[in-house]
Amino acid sequence: RPGTAKDVFADLNERQRAAVEHGVADGSHRGPLLVIAGAGTGKTKTLASRVARLVQTGADPHRILLLTFARRAAGEMEQRVGRMLHRLLGYGTTQAPPHFPWCGTFHSVGARLLRDYADRIGLAPNFTILDRSDAEDLMGIVRQELGLAETVERFPLKGSCLAIYSRVVNSQSRLDQVLQTHYPWCFAAHDGLKKLFKAYAQAKHQQQVLDYDDLLLYWSHMMMDAGIAADVRQRFDHVLIDEYQDTNRLQGSIVLGLKPQGENLTVVGDDAQAIYSFRAADVGNILEFPDQFTPPARIVALEQNYRSTQPILAASNAVIGLSKKRHAKDLWSNQASSELPRITAMPDEASQAQWVADQVLLRREEGIRLIKQAVLFRTSSHSAPLELELTRRNIPFRKFGGLKFLESTHIKDVLSILRWAQNPRGRLAGFRVSQLLAGFGPVSAGKLLDEMEREADPMTAIRGFTPPKAASEEFAKLAGLIESMSQQSEWPGDLERAIEWYQPHLERMHDDAEVRLADLEQMARIAQGYSSRERFLTELTLDPPEASSDESGAPHLDEDYLILSTIHSAKGQEWNAVYVLNVVDGCMPSDMATGREEDIEEERRLLYVAMTRAKHHLALITPQRFYVRQQRRGGDSYINATLTRFIPGKVARLFEQVAPMSARGDTRVSSHVPTVDVGAKLRAMWD
Ligand code: ATP
Ligand code: MG
Repeated sequence: RPGTAKDVFADLNERQRAAVEHGVADGSHRGPLLVIAGAGTGKTKTLASRVARLVQTGADPHRILLLTFARRAAGEMEQRVGRMLHRLLGYGTTQAPPHFPWCGTFHSVGARLLRDYADRIGLAPNFTILDRSDAEDLMGIVRQELGLAETVERFPLKGSCLAIYSRVVNSQSRLDQVLQTHYPWCFAAHDGLKKLFKAYAQAKHQQQVLDYDDLLLYWSHMMMDAGIAADVRQRFDHVLIDEYQDTNRLQGSIVLGLKPQGENLTVVGDDAQAIYSFRAADVGNILEFPDQFTPPARIVALEQNYRSTQPILAASNAVIGLSKKRHAKDLWSNQASSELPRITAMPDEASQAQWVADQVLLRREEGIRLIKQAVLFRTSSHSAPLELELTRRNIPFRKFGGLKFLESTHIKDVLSILRWAQNPRGRLAGFRVSQLLAGFGPVSAGKLLDEMEREADPMTAIRGFTPPKAASEEFAKLAGLIESMSQQSEWPGDLERAIEWYQPHLERMHDDAEVRLADLEQMARIAQGYSSRERFLTELTLDPPEASSDESGAPHLDEDYLILSTIHSAKGQEWNAVYVLNVVDGCMPSDMATGREEDIEEERRLLYVAMTRAKHHLALITPQRFYVRQQRRGGDSYINATLTRFIPGKVARLFEQVAPMSARGDTRVSSHVPTVDVGAKLRAMWD
């Protein structure tokens, strides 16, 4: 029996319901809607409910554009909406729940739209997408070709070049402004960078490859053409966006391009959780949203937090309350608890890892499954000691926002074969693949790719190419494979053929070929879930699977595993128990950020985001010896760490302070003596 709207939406509070019903009942008010509210107040739930309500009242799911922050979030949103509709309309008993084809990230939706309009905007429809490291490599190659690395003193490294480029593109500002504000030490390289970026853009165009930023850039520019814009607009009746505080100028302009009058446009977010300004996100997008329209957008603010216990919320409010910027009002929760959040001092990172592993197991004894627990940290590399400890104790885990499955050589090799077949003009893929052949070096590869570039049909060049003698037999096989796969794609057959071709090369190059082959088989399993080679390449490049403790790659779905995540990747999620590592000055705020006040404020929000992920148990850990990797100054060192400045004495009172555990018999822990006793300092605050 299908439920009624009343059953399904019964638990919404009054304001949430107002947002869900906005413009639905009478259809007269279709103007823009902004839901701005603190963590855990049900913004995402409200957004999902609104989508369900729209579909229930007749909206076509194929004409709803739902933009989320990560693909994972998109999948969860779709399931959530599906469940509600199932209850509302009895979907699933008589028919399958509706599919929302336009539910994804800005980047993945952009990639799909660009594919549709490629021929109208001078793009080859078979363009391939460069992941960050490919884009860096291409930047490096271009930089080398221009001789910039040698002639200009202290010219930024390829990674920094890409970061600067990306910032210019995403913030829609000028290079000199970006350098002045964010990279003053690179200012001397201004002219060289300008030349470099032009050549980089040209190289991408020539090869018909797009980097991540291009997906937004092309999309936004495409919307400036009146004809195409009208076409794209009429495809989407409703546009809804989660985590709007972390969109950048370019994304903001895309949104306005899609809905210039703001009709049927809903955005939700929290300015206190803006943590992506390092990627040019601009909190101005959400703060200025209402006034971009006439009449201005309707604003709904939410204040009741349904996620966390009252003591956790009090501590979180206190942390963000010290911010110089004004944020939305304090949140309240009616979940009382006698347990305060904890600050635990530990001698060093190794003992921190042991303590967390102990706690995780204790909580599991109490009945909190691993999957309901998460360990959060500032930077991906910070979890290394914990990963070791968990592996040693056989505690399964899965890591978000860390080293990607796709970053290993053998996976990249095979993906490059597919990319090259997809787009034979892509030089990076061609360069990588052809050099897998024994006796085929960079010089031959360069020659081959030059010839492919000159010919109208690159296949003529590959067919007529004379490889070095030693490689001639193997080259013929490779040329045959690329030619046949580029002419006709069979999916997932292409991947199987690529692996088959690659296997002997893998065995020649790597001692652990067997382990690597298992990864490739895992990839072949993942591939079956995609409808075409192009979809597979696009989605994997944009949002690759995460690393896990399971050697074979992605963990099995029914397994219980602990979540390890960077704080950035933990956005929007919640766990019963949350442990935050390295809550010390030098890490939060990061040593790298201590310059500008805005940077410090962003670090404060980062801690706020971390703390507000917790439902019932929260522990912040402060190792007293903390290893700092000083990228800018060169050389690494240990610092004697103290509790983060974001938790001064009066805020610390809202926590239970746990004394440092005395080091165990384990030599790894007891080998260094703490230089500053943070625990003692913390306790002294009570004297
Ligand atoms: P964040 O800022 O972290 O993204 P959010 O505002 O999007 O948080 P949600 O994730 O939507 O918040 O909701 C937080 C939790 O509160 C979820 O477990 C959700 O199911 C629950 N919740 C939200 N609203 C209600 C409600 N009216 N009644 C009961 N539970 C609710
Ligand atoms: Mg949310």
